[in-house]
Amino acid sequence: MTDILVFYSMLDPFEEWRDAIATHLGTEIRIERADAVSDPSRVRFALVWNPPTGFFDKFPNLELVINLGAGVDRLVSRADLPDIPITRLSDPEMGKMMAGFVLFSVLRHAREIPHFEAAQRNKQWSYRHPRSASDINVTVLGLGELGGLAATEIARQGFRTHGWATRPRDLPGVEVHYENAALHDLLANADIVVCMLPLTPATSKCLDAAAFAAMKPGAAFVNVSRGEVVEERALVAALQSGKLSGATLDVFASEPLPPEHALWTLPGVLITPHLASVALPKSAAPQIAFNINAVRSGAPLANVVSKLRGY
Ligand code: NDP
Repeated sequence: MTDILVFYSMLDPFEEWRDAIATHLGTEIRIERADAVSDPSRVRFALVWNPPTGFFDKFPNLELVINLGAGVDRLVSRADLPDIPITRLSDPEMGKMMAGFVLFSVLRHAREIPHFEAAQRNKQWSYRHPRSASDINVTVLGLGELGGLAATEIARQGFRTHGWATRPRDLPGVEVHYENAALHDLLANADIVVCMLPLTPATSKCLDAAAFAAMKPGAAFVNVSRGEVVEERALVAALQSGKLSGATLDVFASEPLPPEHALWTLPGVLITPHLASVALPKSAAPQIAFNINAVRSGAPLANVVSKLRGY
């Protein structure tokens, strides 16, 4: 009997995902767009990015929800989430894309690019002697699938790299800290702080006024995780006062960032519209098919999300 994988995303192209996944699945699975499902009772799998409230109620035989991305905060916080396994994407190209963006952000601050861009606008030849990477401390908050790879890349460039997680991890070149109390010491020690924490009840607004106060004067801040992990007013105040020398920000509490928001015009701040990394059909398709086949054969799933932890 044919099973159906239902697809929902307002951002991702259905045909591209369908064709990429279909090459890894047998003909006994049909992939259908959410607005054109032939038989809701045959839907056993859902591949979704931010589906509307009530979406899951339409499919009484759903057995697996696959989040079409890495961040699951909007999915696991829903009241209408069915009590079935949730998996996330963790594809290698997504990891590389994120590590590249984070490395760019760290180098932007390490090589004082905002200073040179400002000087260029005034046609000033404003020499600043470059610092060696080995004299620069970078702290990466969150060492998961994406964060761990980014931290390893930063370390590979020769930066003194520290990381923060809840459990010990072995990452080449990265000094890993996992005590909750370590956070403020790590912030105080860092020239560049990179936020790669998932948004959960435990991390919501964890980078608050006290956290920015703990940071080194002149430190730079990079956020590629979720805007709500940061107390945005405290971030703005830290930038306005000069406590922070600059920031590279890809994510915001409110997206799109409203035109009147103070962050748009602060010196040393680069704003990008939430694109540090995206899921790519060809590289994500094998793991989607793997999990669908695992459900069908009763085998263990990969990349399972803990609803308790929230990531
Ligand atoms: P993972 O879920 O794989 O890992 C999360 C990491 O954060 C783990 O190391 C975890 O620790 C750590 N962590 C979680 N809670 C805490 C806490 N309370 N205190 C200390 N450490 C904590 O995440 P990824 O690395 O795959 O991705 C990170 C985030 O990036 C995603 O959640 C998503 O929000 C964001 N993202 C942004 C994109 C963009 O384009 N800007 C694209 C894709 C993702 P432990 O290892 O001990 O479990």
